[in-house]
Amino acid sequence: MRAVVAPRFGEAWELHERHRDPEPGSRDVVVEVIASGICYTDVGQLHDPVYGCKFPRVPGHEPVGRVVAVGPDVGDVAVGDIVGVAYSQRWCGACRYCMLGRYEHCSACTFTGITCDGGHAELMVMDAAAVERIPGGMDPVQAAPVMCAGFTVYSGICDAELRPGERCAVIGVGGLGHLGVQYAAALGAEVIAVTNSADKVAIVKELGASHVLLSEGETAGKLLQRCGGVDVILNTANGVAPDLALGLRPYGRISLLGACQHSFPVTPTQMSFGKFKIMGSSQGPRHRLREVLQLHLRSKARVVVEDYPLDDALAAFDRVRSGVARFRAVLVPG
Ligand SMILES: [Zn+2]
Ligand SMILES: [Zn+2]
Repeated sequence: MRAVVAPRFGEAWELHERHRDPEPGSRDVVVEVIASGICYTDVGQLHDPVYGCKFPRVPGHEPVGRVVAVGPDVGDVAVGDIVGVAYSQRWCGACRYCMLGRYEHCSACTFTGITCDGGHAELMVMDAAAVERIPGGMDPVQAAPVMCAGFTVYSGICDAELRPGERCAVIGVGGLGHLGVQYAAALGAEVIAVTNSADKVAIVKELGASHVLLSEGETAGKLLQRCGGVDVILNTANGVAPDLALGLRPYGRISLLGACQHSFPVTPTQMSFGKFKIMGSSQGPRHRLREVLQLHLRSKARVVVEDYPLDDALAAFDRVRSGVARFRAVLVPG
C-alpha cells in the first residue's frame, strides 16, 4: 500500500510504497481510507516538539474510510462500515480522565498521526473503541475534516457556552474558522468573522457570518470593540491579538483554539470588572464528536474542500503550510 511518511523531525513528507498491508490487532479495525484531511497541526508536528510526534510517522488525524478487516475481539464494528477516528485513540478506560471522556489527558492515550499512524495512506489501523460511525447520507470527504477541525471548533463553542442570540466572533477563517462560522450561526448566534484575507470576505458571508471585518493591520480587539463587542470569541488563528480581551462585552468568554506560543496580557481589574472568562479548548469529550457530525449534516454545513490524490500530498501540504489552501485540503487516496 502507499502511504505518506514523515521520516524525521524537521524533514519533508515522502510518499512510500509499503510491501505489507497493515493487519488488525485483536481490538483493531483496518480501514481503506476514503478521505484524510490535512490540518495545520500536520505542519506544526514536523517543527515543534510540543506535539511530541514520534518519527517515522504516517501523519493525518482526520481520516474517514471503509472497514475492510476487524480483529477477533471487535464486537460492534463490521466490515463495510464507514468510520472515522479523531485525535485520541487507545486510552486506558479506567483513569479519572477516561471516566470524564477526556481521553486526551489519559497517560496511556496515543494520538492519531502523531504517536500512532494516521490517515494519509491507502490503509490505516484504527482502535475499534475509538472509531465513530459516519452518519448515513454524509459524504466521507465532508466528514473527514469534522474529525479534527469540526470537532475542535464545536468543542470550543460548547466550552464557551454560546447561546442563541449572542454575538460570536470567529478570529481567523481557515479550516477551523470557516466551520466555526457555520456552526455558531446554525446554533443561533450573530457571527462576526475577522480575517486578514480580502478574498475570503464574500464566501465567509455566504457561509453565515453577519459581518466580516478585514483586519488590515488593525488588532482584533479594537475591531470588535468598535462594533460594540461580542459575547464569545473563538480564536482559531495561529496567533493571538495582544488586545483580544478589549473585544468582549461583560460576561464574555474567549475560547483559545489555534495552537501558538504567543501570549496576550489581561489584568485582574479588566477581568473582575468585565467578569469574563478565558479558556483553552481542544476536541473532547467524546460525545461532542457524534453531536458535531449530526450538527454538520442537519444544518447543511459544508467544508469548502480542495481534494488531492495521494500522489499530490506534498503539493497539498505546501498549500496548507503557506496558508493558501481554501479552506481544507483533503487527500483522497482512492
Ligand atoms: Zn487537527
Ligand atoms: Zn485513561
